[in-house]
Amino acid sequence: MSADIHGGRAKCLQRLIRLNMPVPKTVALPFRTVHRIAAGGVPDTGAILAHFGPQPLLSVRPSSQDPDWGGPGAILNIGMCDVRHAQLCDEIGERAATSLYLRFIQSFATHVARLDDEMFTLPDTPDHEALALALRTYEEEADEPFPQDVGRQLADVLRSMARAWEGTTARILRKAKGAPEDAGLGLVVQQMVLGVGPGDSGSGVIQFVDPLTGERQVTGRYLSQSQGRDALAAGSEALYLTRDPRGPSLEELCPEPFAELVACGERARARLREEMQIEFTLHGGRLAILDAIRVNRGSRAKVRIAVELAEDGIISPEEAVMRVDPQALSELLHRQVAPGAARDVITRGIAASPGAARGRIVFSATDAQASASRGEDCILVRRETTPEDIRGMHAAVGVLTVRGGVTSHAAVIGRGLGLPCVVGASDLRLDRKAKRLVAPDGRRFAEGETITVDGTTGEVLAGAPVMVEAALDGAFQQLLDWADAARDIGVRANADTPADAQTARNFRAEGIGLCRTEHMFFEAERLSVMREMIFADTGEDRAAVLERLLPMQRGDFAELFEIMAGSPVCIRLFDPPLHEFLPSDRQGMRSLADVLDLPLSDVEARVEALEEYNPMLGMRGVRLGVTVPEIYEMQARAIFEATIAASKRGAKVVPEIMIPLVSAMREVELVKTRIDAVAVNVYNETGADFAYKLGVMVETPRAALRAGDIAPHCQFLSFGTNDLTQMTYGLSRDDAGRFMSAYVKARVFPEDPFHTLDIDGVGELLTMGAERARDSVPGITLSICGEHGGSRSAIAFSRAIGLDYVSCSPFRVPAARLSAAQLAI
Ligand code: PEP
Ligand code: MG
Repeated sequence: MSADIHGGRAKCLQRLIRLNMPVPKTVALPFRTVHRIAAGGVPDTGAILAHFGPQPLLSVRPSSQDPDWGGPGAILNIGMCDVRHAQLCDEIGERAATSLYLRFIQSFATHVARLDDEMFTLPDTPDHEALALALRTYEEEADEPFPQDVGRQLADVLRSMARAWEGTTARILRKAKGAPEDAGLGLVVQQMVLGVGPGDSGSGVIQFVDPLTGERQVTGRYLSQSQGRDALAAGSEALYLTRDPRGPSLEELCPEPFAELVACGERARARLREEMQIEFTLHGGRLAILDAIRVNRGSRAKVRIAVELAEDGIISPEEAVMRVDPQALSELLHRQVAPGAARDVITRGIAASPGAARGRIVFSATDAQASASRGEDCILVRRETTPEDIRGMHAAVGVLTVRGGVTSHAAVIGRGLGLPCVVGASDLRLDRKAKRLVAPDGRRFAEGETITVDGTTGEVLAGAPVMVEAALDGAFQQLLDWADAARDIGVRANADTPADAQTARNFRAEGIGLCRTEHMFFEAERLSVMREMIFADTGEDRAAVLERLLPMQRGDFAELFEIMAGSPVCIRLFDPPLHEFLPSDRQGMRSLADVLDLPLSDVEARVEALEEYNPMLGMRGVRLGVTVPEIYEMQARAIFEATIAASKRGAKVVPEIMIPLVSAMREVELVKTRIDAVAVNVYNETGADFAYKLGVMVETPRAALRAGDIAPHCQFLSFGTNDLTQMTYGLSRDDAGRFMSAYVKARVFPEDPFHTLDIDGVGELLTMGAERARDSVPGITLSICGEHGGSRSAIAFSRAIGLDYVSCSPFRVPAARLSAAQLAI
């Protein structure tokens, strides 16, 4: 019997039977047979009934290939009829027998004959009057007497379940869970064990782990004189399974069958290599195992169950690694809305940085800081964020923007900080004057009201739903240790600040693959020095200001080197256009004029002079390095001096310096000459010997095409797939959010290329760039450091073209380590 012919439930029952568990007689119908029945074929009930004794009572349960794909509900007590009822009255008493008959009539009428369920509610007193009424009602509603023949009943049940599976709603539901178009349904026909009658009779459900934490402990309930999953619905009348101060337990009342049940559970775990939930029945004190399914589990339990199965030698460490999806691992790094918590969804945007955060709405970075200083959690809501919002983002517990896509400023910073973030919630109206948000359904949310952003799903929720905490427990670490042993591609982190670097290290990134140095300049004091530098009139003035920035940068780098303790640190030289550092409104310009002691008109003129029509394609990256070389020289000096200082204090540091936005080999030559000269100067001044590596960021299509020319001038190349995607498509990464969903809906793009690496186009440039670089410098180090770096598909592609490592936001490092391992196993 196999799961893709008879379904998972049938397969599992067969294994339980082979393990000598007390499973009642069972017949499994394969997908083929059920499909034929759905198409109008007559079920061969004679052949099925031949397996059971005379006058059997049967249950039918669905058995789809994957239990998550669902299926029609089980039908119990098939075979109940007037004659069987009379017999049962003698065996188990009239009340119990009548109750069973009534329940069967109810489920047959509503699920099989599809009659109005309101006509068939179960009476409080299951007596002969209630039974007569139910039979009469059935006859009136169905225009025929209640069927008395078990063959006819069974045929109707099988037909109805087979057709339900083929129905449109069922198809849509299972497709959403990943089922293929032609997913089949098997059916399991089983002898009933009544669970109702003399002695210790009843039914229950048991599992051996906590479904939220994965901790080994018996959970479940048992209800005397019951069937199926009644115990779970029964509330306080149900018994606990193990001894419990809150009430009586099955363990105390029926110790022998309980011990047998626990032994069955252990055997099932060991032999089915899985944590199972077992449905069981006691009849007259005898145990029957009716069914077993995989325990439904949250992300935390997923990890712990897999690790403990491997630690107990039941599965291999590799299999444990394969059993956990990287998404589940990522969920553990953050607080989340508790599974099953009520969600009042205001709107949906793009899930830009995972985790959930709840707090009061604030509309400006300054208010976010004020809120944090009062100790109040706040959600920073902006049309979009800019570098000036960084401090506000640090102060907020979550960020929501109306505009922007997955590589927008808010998204990138949010991921770096591990700050839950939803961007591009374009259905929201932001009324900044009135300080309120207007939801698509017209609801208004004023400043100070509590909302929740769920950066895992992209939803914005009203109020504060129940949360579950982050869980980086021993099982999490163990799983990643096994993953590291299996993977064959490096994983580094993009980290700009000491806090990022610490996170990267905690998540055991193998180094920093991208430190965006401009992020070090947004802090208040730095920003003002930076502005002075931009306003310097002469080379001398600029040199003087850079002299003040030097110790700050040296301190930044020394701190990063110390945290990374000898692991590689790749520092990218200054990248953005200078005007990003200047105020954008009059108020800001006025205060800048005050600080610099300049007439407002001078400030305005300078800001205007630096404005560009298309700043992302303008004076930024290496272009700035070539035309205003003093900035890169200052950064190089800071890196070298920090290298010397950190190497004295701890592990030897070999910094990697990376030049952004290169498009021509000559740019590299020019910058390299200057950096080498700085290195010589530092060496001459200090006498300290140090090494460094110079690399180029490949983020323009031309750099990819000319990688063969560029490679001999550097020691490594790193593909910056954010800009490379932007420039390959000619698509602004900051504006694409506005129409991306329309484009994906119309299938112009299969997915957002800023989110999922475009293998066909951008990937071709990567392939070409890697080949050309290696052709001219065999063994040159190659990597990818755009936002794509942490995703499974980009890691698979990076392995395929032989890159040495991927680099991604620190909070994506664990999932990237796991994905890389799964791809290698
Ligand atoms: C890139 O362009 O891919 C990149 C990593 O740099 P940034 O996102 O800072 O432009
Ligand atoms: Mg870039």
